[in-house]
Amino acid sequence: MRTIGLIGGMSWESSAEYYRLINEDVRTRLGGQHNAESLMATVDFGEIEAMQRAGDWDGAGAVLAEAATVLERGGADMIALCTNTMHVVADRIEAAVEVPFIHLVDATARRIREAGIERAGLLATRFTMEMDFYAERMARHGIAVEVPTAADRAIVHEIIYGELTLGVVKDDSRKAYRRIMADLAERGCAGMIYGCTEITLLVDDTDSPVPVFDSTRIHAEHLVDLALG
Ligand code: GLU
Repeated sequence: MRTIGLIGGMSWESSAEYYRLINEDVRTRLGGQHNAESLMATVDFGEIEAMQRAGDWDGAGAVLAEAATVLERGGADMIALCTNTMHVVADRIEAAVEVPFIHLVDATARRIREAGIERAGLLATRFTMEMDFYAERMARHGIAVEVPTAADRAIVHEIIYGELTLGVVKDDSRKAYRRIMADLAERGCAGMIYGCTEITLLVDDTDSPVPVFDSTRIHAEHLVDLALG
């Protein structure tokens, strides 16, 4: 079994999901007492979030590249970043290590393509929805990404930072996400990308009118595929 190196802490609420999903998947596939061999380097989201707000992507990239090298020195055979947003600095992390960097967007896009979907809605942080790194990477796989209106993007983003990354889950927020997903489906999206690793703390497959692509679960399953070879 190969060792999975996880850069976590953005937020730890979602890193816990990665840990659970990866280990459950290995147990399902191998049975018995088996679990994944893994390492996690957890950064302080308080520091990363302040850099995000300041637009200091270079500073945040340096912190995450350093975390990747720690994992590599510790014996990780692959590196995964447990957040969609910080894939904005994926190139920097990838360049810092010799072992493969397993990109969340590539794994998610392949799953969408396999489902025969070419146009999908995206729920994510403001950074992921509004900067071009995510949509551009999806486009390389032939997926067109549609984002909510500006007012709805603000709602989606606020719920992530003001609630989900703090472990707070509210019914009103679930209703808001449902409404926003219904709107995206009406605009022609045949699939819905949960493009933030905390989103399934709030909504599941049944809250979307179209098939859901949960980036956390898809990324975790892909890591297990690679770990078990
Ligand atoms: N975990 C979230 C994501 O997948 C948001 C927190 C962050 O900015 O890293 O984008």
